[in-house]
Amino acid sequence: MANGNRARRVLVTGAGGFIGHHLAKHLRSQGNWVRGVDIKRPEFERTAANEFLVADLRDGKNCRRAVNGVQDVYQLAADMGGIGYITGVHASLVRNNALINTHMLEAARLEDVDRYLFTSTACVYPSFLQNRDDVVPLREVDAIPADPEKGYGWEKLFAEQLASYYLEDYGLDTRIVRFHNIYGPLGTYEGGREKAPAAICRKVAEARDGSTIEVWGDGEQTRSYCYIDDCVEGLERLMSSGFTQPINLGTDELISVDDLVDLVASIAGKRLDKHHDVSKPQGVRGRNSDNTLLRKVLHWEPQTRLRDGLGPTYAWIWGQLQRQGRAQPPVPQAAELAVSRRPSVRAPFLGTAAEVRTTARTRAPSRSGRGDESPL
Ligand code: NAD
Repeated sequence: MANGNRARRVLVTGAGGFIGHHLAKHLRSQGNWVRGVDIKRPEFERTAANEFLVADLRDGKNCRRAVNGVQDVYQLAADMGGIGYITGVHASLVRNNALINTHMLEAARLEDVDRYLFTSTACVYPSFLQNRDDVVPLREVDAIPADPEKGYGWEKLFAEQLASYYLEDYGLDTRIVRFHNIYGPLGTYEGGREKAPAAICRKVAEARDGSTIEVWGDGEQTRSYCYIDDCVEGLERLMSSGFTQPINLGTDELISVDDLVDLVASIAGKRLDKHHDVSKPQGVRGRNSDNTLLRKVLHWEPQTRLRDGLGPTYAWIWGQLQRQGRAQPPVPQAAELAVSRRPSVRAPFLGTAAEVRTTARTRAPSRSGRGDESPL
């Protein structure tokens, strides 16, 4: 256990989603009583929550029911996806998330909860600080003056501000965490809401050795990625910290999309060519997390190297596709054991070093496209 959160009554919203499902499982395993709430149940395994409510949190009455009787709230529910999704649906996404966040904060105040953690995003950071692939890591203070991602980012920044007003005006003990690209097993890997690591793992798993996969953008855009086990540990630590200002949660291991593809291909033991499609949305040019404040406040930061976290992630996605007759060999070893293991079990997933060649590039940028394999 990270930090003294024993036997709390906890609400995790968005517990049918990727991070919320892992968080509910982790908090339960630490001895807490956990209520999960979501508009849908978890897709890939049963919830570990003691109680699970299927409810629409855009409705204030449902938020009151969700919050009733709990001490801690982890607010993860959001209409979200990767860059293709969030750039395609600004009005409905912002409306949905603004309703969820305003009602959830008010419900937390009315039900007098002890602590409230809001999950924000690196998409709140200004575009003008992210226009180079060798980006300077983003500090929390860089968010304002604001120029965030157009819909999703603006709403998250607004919700951060609203949470801070609930602290100032009502004394609600708030936490605000800004995630930088969380990935791992049990996450969406297709359908338009998946993010770059999952989309690339899917494409590599489905590709025959020696074939070509499509990559969104020119492949030189950069990001950092944080493994799910580190994410849930960081959330628990932050909740216990007493720190009420926005704080990054991510790694500062910067990597280009092309290098990410190479890494996954290497883990898979495949030789693949890349075809770049720059007509697809790419998000900002570069984004990295400055973890100075994280280290200072939590005396901790994410531990999992990207290669180590991608092993179980690739193995899990390969296993999902294999059940549908879509995965191509070689078989990742011990795929079933990968889920929820600490990535120290990484060795079996390393394939032979793979060569990934770049062959074709399309040079006609446009803003079209709705799926998602590009990082936010
Ligand atoms: P996710 O989409 O897997 O989970 C979000 C969950 O919210 C989904 O299960 C969805 O059904 C639920 N939800 C949506 N609308 C709802 C409603 N009206 N009522 C009840 N539930 C509703 O996403 P995730 O990756 O687990 O992200 C969790 C949180 O972290 C979100 O707030 C997201 O914005 C934030 N975040 C995630 C990342 C990342 O890399 N995954 C990065 C930045 C921020």
